[in-house]
Amino acid sequence: MLKSATHTDCIEANGAAVKLSPTQTLAFMTRRYFAAPLPPCGGVVKLDADETHHLTKVMRVKVGETVTLFDGEGRQCDATVESIGRRDVICLSQPPAPTDHENARSLTLGIAMPKGDRSKDLIERLTELGVNRVVPLHCNRTQWPVTENAITKWQRVVIDACKQSGRNHLMEIAPPVRAAQWFGDSAHVENVMRIIADPSGAPSLGSPEARPLACAIGPEGGFDAMEMDAAKQLGWHPVSFGSRILRIETASIVAAIKLVM
Ligand code: SAM
Repeated sequence: MLKSATHTDCIEANGAAVKLSPTQTLAFMTRRYFAAPLPPCGGVVKLDADETHHLTKVMRVKVGETVTLFDGEGRQCDATVESIGRRDVICLSQPPAPTDHENARSLTLGIAMPKGDRSKDLIERLTELGVNRVVPLHCNRTQWPVTENAITKWQRVVIDACKQSGRNHLMEIAPPVRAAQWFGDSAHVENVMRIIADPSGAPSLGSPEARPLACAIGPEGGFDAMEMDAAKQLGWHPVSFGSRILRIETASIVAAIKLVM
């Protein structure tokens, strides 16, 4: 995409959209580093080992160069690289400012996560699309449990996708939970529109209301009858994304695009 593009939009710290050349776009995508917390009035920031590696070994940034730091909670700032050590990089930051690229409506996706790299790629896409929270679901037809190790890896994927996409909020990854329990717990959260992705559900949401959404995506074998019945009784609305059966990743991405973008 970069090679064929002539220009692309970029949102600067002051919120103004400017056009960037392909070379500038590459610089924008790669000059961002995650550091939390950022000092509220600006000051000294030490980058962690992962960010130090990316800045020094991959991007080969030098002392005196300017980078962008973001804190994963919606703030970013410019910073000057002051020193580069073997294990850490010290920057001097400006005061961070809120810079929001979030969707107008929040979306939590409960997903029976697919296996291995399919999940990793899915986490990357959902972060880019602005999904707020992913809850890994353990369903009656789940074939592989989500491990703590996988979640730790996905958290790193979220940071990298935020760096790449310009998002300043990290997508949250909740601990895994049984689908039936999540259906029940979410039913007690007020003002949330609850949707269960179901090929035989209603063709659309009807008139979308401006309230947060929760959407459940089932495993390869689908939710079983017990899970579907429990969800419906708890006020979850079955909604179809078309007449074809989509893989978990496709259904999740369609949900993110159709429901909140
Ligand atoms: N045989 C399963 C069934 O019919 O539900 C297929 C499961 S599909 C691979 C995995 C999940 O993606 C489903 O449980 C559902 O939540 C979602 N999904 C797949 N296709 C969909 C569609 N057309 N509309 C809505 N959700 C869909």
